[in-house]
Amino acid sequence: ALLLAIESSCDETAVAIIRGHTGEAAEVVASEISSQIPLHREHGGVVPELASRNHSLHLRGLVEKALSDARVTMEDIDAFAATTGPGLASSLLIGSTAAKGMACAMKRPFLGINHLEGHLLSPFLDRTTVPPHIALIVSGGHTLLLDVTGPGSYRKLGSTRDDAAGEAYDKVGKMLGLPYPGGPEIEKAALGGNPKAYDFPRSMLHEPHLDFSFSGLKTAVLYTLQKETGELPVADLAASFQQAVIEILVKKTLRAARQAGRKQIALSGGVSLNKALRNAFFAAGQSAGVEISVAPPVFCTDNAAMIAFAALLRHLAGESSALDGDIHPNLPLV
Ligand code: ATP
Ligand code: FE
Ligand code: MG
Repeated sequence: ALLLAIESSCDETAVAIIRGHTGEAAEVVASEISSQIPLHREHGGVVPELASRNHSLHLRGLVEKALSDARVTMEDIDAFAATTGPGLASSLLIGSTAAKGMACAMKRPFLGINHLEGHLLSPFLDRTTVPPHIALIVSGGHTLLLDVTGPGSYRKLGSTRDDAAGEAYDKVGKMLGLPYPGGPEIEKAALGGNPKAYDFPRSMLHEPHLDFSFSGLKTAVLYTLQKETGELPVADLAASFQQAVIEILVKKTLRAARQAGRKQIALSGGVSLNKALRNAFFAAGQSAGVEISVAPPVFCTDNAAMIAFAALLRHLAGESSALDGDIHPNLPLV
């Protein structure tokens, strides 16, 4: 089957086409992204009205580019998909309405996809099977630990009680005077810093549950930098902050794998792009005998290939969504 998917939940407009059949590897044959990061940077974060207007502006061009990259036409597409939540309401509406319109015009099924399921499945998007594993979604809005037994079978083990990991990166980046988004900037700054320079708190690390908390860490960084009198030691602060985040994520996720008896961990979401985080997981996985899977870097942050893949698995399983289905800004995964 050949599927076209649109992702427009936040500030990236993306269109992808995927080809896949039951029992065979799936192949992403086109993946287009128009990032609005430079546009929102001057405001220090995402401005919803700007985001939705830009989705409208770029969608048509991205669809045409995806079709031509994949060397297919609209008639060749077997189903159309779009993210229907969670995300910004006005942004979700643009992408889902466009995909529904194409589905109507071409008399093909429509599939509404949960953005988080897209992230979750992204480490497996070159196969059509999803092995039992522990999934850690670390994105701008979510920090979610799940036990996955297969596509659609998700059990929540823990989540953040306050800030998401990516949100903490972005807020601390802002405090340190770094451009938006803070995640990649902190990773860069941390390369020249000492991760042991500051002993920031590892909140909830030793509590028995698998939930996370990052707001105490963020506040600890704020208090520390308020006490600094001279030039801000940005590299040391970034490296020490990042070290705390990594230690919390690695230890809790490996504990989850041990408790559930899983031998595989899959990382997804924008924060899983972080090389220090990936390396810490690879090292910890190796000593615990747990395989670590991550998506290729281009599919870690928001993209439509992951939405197309989630849609493909559902389409191959015979599912579709109603055309009168709504968007859901706060849609949970489980
Ligand atoms: P959600 O998926 O929860 O709705 P989102 O779509 O905004 O949120 P993503 O696009 O998956 O999230 O990821 C964006 C987040 O990833 C931002 O918070 C960004 O700072 C963070 N991020 C991106 N690159 C890195 C990096 N190299 N290191 C750490 N964090 C990073
Ligand atoms: Fe996302
Ligand atoms: Mg984003």
